[in-house]
Amino acid sequence: MARVYNWQIAREMSYWYPESRPKRQFAAVFDVNKCIACQTCTLACKTTWTSGRGQEYMLWNNVETKPYGFYPLAWDVKLLAMLNGQRWKGARYEGATIFESAPAAERVLGWRPTAADYAYPNVGEDDCAGEINRGAAMTLPHASWFFYLARICNHCTYPACLAACPRGAVYKRPEDGIVLVDQSRCRGYQECVKACPYKKVFFNPMSGVSEKCIACYPKLEQGLQPQCFVNCIGKIRLAGWISTPDKARPENPVDYLVHVRKVALPLFPQFGLEPNVYYIPPVHVPLRFLEQMFGPGAADAVRVYRAAAEDADLSGLLCLFGSTEALLARWRRHGAAVSGYDESGRELVRVPLSEPILVRAAYDERRRIARTNCP
Ligand code: SF4
Ligand code: SF4
Repeated sequence: MARVYNWQIAREMSYWYPESRPKRQFAAVFDVNKCIACQTCTLACKTTWTSGRGQEYMLWNNVETKPYGFYPLAWDVKLLAMLNGQRWKGARYEGATIFESAPAAERVLGWRPTAADYAYPNVGEDDCAGEINRGAAMTLPHASWFFYLARICNHCTYPACLAACPRGAVYKRPEDGIVLVDQSRCRGYQECVKACPYKKVFFNPMSGVSEKCIACYPKLEQGLQPQCFVNCIGKIRLAGWISTPDKARPENPVDYLVHVRKVALPLFPQFGLEPNVYYIPPVHVPLRFLEQMFGPGAADAVRVYRAAAEDADLSGLLCLFGSTEALLARWRRHGAAVSGYDESGRELVRVPLSEPILVRAAYDERRRIARTNCP
């Protein structure tokens, strides 16, 4: 085991290979507060990449309702129960990661789902934590809650799938940090499936090898965002590149949200993989739940997000989510508009911070029609 630095847990940790960061790292921010569980992202991915034989059960992108939704069943609670003693001291994680908790002769603490575990991707959909007594839903705030968690592969800095593969078939691209399975090297041992805590590697029983989310790299190579991003109805997603905290650039949209404003947080940072999909946590969910899921920064992230309406820069950047198919390398607010740019500084999109409100007459004289959507 090597010693590597994981900034998400503010300490060094053990990992199977030495630290080797790519030239740049693909990353994403998902605003959980805006997801409506329409599953358009799920279908955009499904029809693009997993419509073949042996892929029927695979959802490289899935959206589950927390707290009771899982794909596969109990993927997170099972590992959390195995990972004893999760302790944080400030920003530092003092418990053991899944690499440091590996049983003797194994590289990662993990478990392998059965076929039945994948059979209920919509389990727990719209189920609340707690009960809503008759009429209580009309009183706000009420104590019952749920939220939608959209998930793809995190293209982790320290991938468990890569660490666990005895064939060296899983690799991380040096040019963009995307994690891929080399199908010609894979022998179908499924150690990656067992090791990935997020369960985002899938075994194809027809081909006998493992497959996973590829972050739509053919699109990224053309400067475009992945399919699940550009088809997102709720406009909850932004793809880009993340720096390490010491090299954060405020003009980079992902750096600004993750490092500067700290409003977007990793999913289960205590697992130790330094995952690169970051979540703006749901503001209506009890803090203890959020802290277990997103780490000790949850309270501050919720506070910053709640104040976004009075924060022109943050709300401006949030307006760029879902505004263009192009990957945005930089952003800038100028007055009441915000722009996104490519690497060379070319403006790709410009969005106003607020849209004008037009009140239309109930009867349109020119077209001689009544509008039923007007009072
Ligand atoms: S989320 Fe899982 S499959 Fe994706 S890189 Fe991390 S460990 Fe590998
Ligand atoms: S398309 Fe967007 S809003 Fe719809 S479920 Fe997916 S992430 Fe949520």
